[in-house]
Amino acid sequence: MDKNKILFEASQVFIPGGVNSPVRAFSSVGGTPIFFKKGSGSYLWDENDKKYVDYINSWGPMILGHAHPDVINAVQVTAKSSLSFGAPTSRELDIAETLVKLIPSMEQVRLVSSGTEATMSAIRVARGFTSRDRIIKFEGCYHGHADALLVKAGSGALTFGQPSSAGVPKDVAKHTHTLPFNDIDALKKCFKDIGSEIACVIIEPIVGNMNLILPDIRFLNALRSLCDESGAVLIFDEVMTGFRVGLGGAQELYKVTPDITTLGKVIGGGLPMGAFGGKKNIMQKLAPLGPVYQAGTLSGNPVAVAAGLKTLELVQKPNFYDDLSLMTKRLVEGMTDAAKSKGISFCARNVGGMFGMYFRDKPPNSFDEIMNSDRENFNKFFHSMLEQGFYFGPSAFEAGFVSAAHSKKDIDLTVEASSHAFDQL
Ligand code: PMP
Repeated sequence: MDKNKILFEASQVFIPGGVNSPVRAFSSVGGTPIFFKKGSGSYLWDENDKKYVDYINSWGPMILGHAHPDVINAVQVTAKSSLSFGAPTSRELDIAETLVKLIPSMEQVRLVSSGTEATMSAIRVARGFTSRDRIIKFEGCYHGHADALLVKAGSGALTFGQPSSAGVPKDVAKHTHTLPFNDIDALKKCFKDIGSEIACVIIEPIVGNMNLILPDIRFLNALRSLCDESGAVLIFDEVMTGFRVGLGGAQELYKVTPDITTLGKVIGGGLPMGAFGGKKNIMQKLAPLGPVYQAGTLSGNPVAVAAGLKTLELVQKPNFYDDLSLMTKRLVEGMTDAAKSKGISFCARNVGGMFGMYFRDKPPNSFDEIMNSDRENFNKFFHSMLEQGFYFGPSAFEAGFVSAAHSKKDIDLTVEASSHAFDQL
């Protein structure tokens, strides 16, 4: 009997939906989620001892692959000197210096324990700094599950935002406006109408939460100028793209400098950690210096920081991102060629170690375009790949991730398997 099925049934008795984060439930693709018991490098093993090549990488953090010996060693050595102090440690200084050096738009940084905490705190400090309430976000971007960010557009961009989750008060949602991504006209109109009331704009500069969508550089530049003119704080949510698309994040690739950056995933090396940082005059509004309250019992946790520091040390090796990008390119080009030879409407692209696969002829540039891809074909493809031992994100709207542990052989076997999967569509 399939142990995944047994565990999933049992988990549903004690855990709502059987999972601790909704996407894990396979609701979008159907079937039973896989319960993993072991990972090493690019591979995972499930409870049935079936082996998979992993293209989720814990949704981004495992950029060095699973159980990298140096990271595990850093964790073990650190853990022996206590798991938490709730007081400052020298390692927090080390990681703050590293982050500020690698992402120069961050003059100061504060550590938190998740991406959600990072974006929630970034918004609060932006509001405290500007003494304004309204925030702007974009359709298809995800910034974690804080109340102010679980909001969808009202009937027009300037009508009050509506909660996109039950439990979010209308009075909180009304301050959040949601605009279409990559739409310069909508952006200009919004700033013209309410620019002087906007506390901040939060954006995934490269979007990884509606599959992978690249920004129009003119759109990012317009955003920067409009924020400058209106005094709004520009927040780049690089929780996913930070240390994933390149060493300096999306802001380095597109040469657009935000006022605040949020980070997570890779900076914790697989342990719970996030960070937000930016201009010193904004960050100094935070308690204990300023009036904006923000705190955390486990913030800067020594073991998480040790895993993060070791990970950040290893990604700084020469050519790390060039090699990762080449390997990821080999995957997307291989799969695209395989699909073409079978006459399947499919394309794929990557930025650094992050990739998007689309069941449509051309890569999408907007939320509407990605919604127009062939989800049924994606679901069939997903299940065929899973069956063959290749673990991709269980939804047509997730980006994928390659790690430095993925070998040419892993990639070539994946392309071969994809060819078989395309045959079945
Ligand atoms: N921002 C972005 C861009 C993300 O991709 C995510 C998580 N996928 C978050 C914020 C929230 O991070 P966490 O799940 O660690 O709370």
